[in-house]
Amino acid sequence: MSKVHNFSAGPSILNQEVLKKASEAVVNFNNLNLSILEISHRSKDFVAVMDNAVALVKEILNVPEGYSVLFLQGGASTGFLTTVLNFMKENGNGAYLNTGAWSKKALKEAENLGKMNVVASSDDKNFNYIPKGFTVPSDADYLHITTNNTIFGTQIKDIPTQGNTLLIADMSSDIFSRKINVSDYAMIYAGAQKNMGPAGTTLYIVKDDLLGQTGRNIPTMLDLRTHIAKGSMFNTPPVYPIYVSMLTLEWLKANGGIEWIEKVNQEKADLLYNEIDANPLFEGTAAKEDRSNMNVTFVLTNEDVKNDFDRMWNEAGISGINGHRDVGGYRASIYNAMPIESIHVLVNTMKQLANKYDLVN
Ligand SMILES: *Cc1c(COP(=O)(O)O)cnc(C)c1O
Repeated sequence: MSKVHNFSAGPSILNQEVLKKASEAVVNFNNLNLSILEISHRSKDFVAVMDNAVALVKEILNVPEGYSVLFLQGGASTGFLTTVLNFMKENGNGAYLNTGAWSKKALKEAENLGKMNVVASSDDKNFNYIPKGFTVPSDADYLHITTNNTIFGTQIKDIPTQGNTLLIADMSSDIFSRKINVSDYAMIYAGAQKNMGPAGTTLYIVKDDLLGQTGRNIPTMLDLRTHIAKGSMFNTPPVYPIYVSMLTLEWLKANGGIEWIEKVNQEKADLLYNEIDANPLFEGTAAKEDRSNMNVTFVLTNEDVKNDFDRMWNEAGISGINGHRDVGGYRASIYNAMPIESIHVLVNTMKQLANKYDLVN
């Protein structure tokens, strides 16, 4: 099989060694001569997987005492709802920073269930920047942010901590990509399928003593205390996504953890953004200071070369770089598992396009 350079936005690239180990476990897990898919989630072999996955999250992100790490179902989209039910007081309100499509879906759940304030929004410019310098009403139960805007290619660089206001973050598309200070947050949640594993599990990191204060009756499955009490085993957990996530975290740790990956991610992003800025045929869509290191969005400056470019990247073995319909153009998702070699292939293709039209670059 020839090499495919996978720039898919999600589900997205996983490390090759991780995929190999994951495929072996489907046939014969831990030399049990059983598949990981056909054993009890309460068996000692799977309990060890869950314990290891939780321990790796705590170690890699330096999670302080007092926080629980959960692997649940429902995707980040259920996280929008979990946020409201677990943190918005019965007659309270949630504050939201509106930075794109996922933020909008999150704030909709707050509107449905209670009161919601948008403290700042970048929808005036099709979400191509991160609003800064806003204030959060002191009566807000929390401020919700989306740290990386997968569709629009922006990323919050300075986390807007707000004194005593609880901070809740959807980190679906940049979790484990850079250093974070977990103690800044009341809760972090992230779907696995961008930077951690296959779709099917959602990571939650939540400060225990903040729960149970809303006065709401919370449905059992959406009450985070249910899952904390049972170590993510209240019901059958998504065993395989958790196992593959564990393998990814082992890979990350073995290579040097966050310090290592943050440096690599910066190098990768710089390489691609430098080409976008230098090449007269391309233009970035996000404000420079807010550019995402995970999802790089760009357009052609001359649509006449589109057919050529599309043919060239296809021939180079590049996959998954068509932009989201809300932005158009191209989106190169360059998550943790993407090797820098694949970015060189894309950059070289962009250079070849400029050469073909005799444009110096
Ligand atoms: C992909 C994505 C989601 C949606 O996640 P699901 O697991 O499909 O519900 C939410 N937020 C962000 C930032 C995403 O990138």
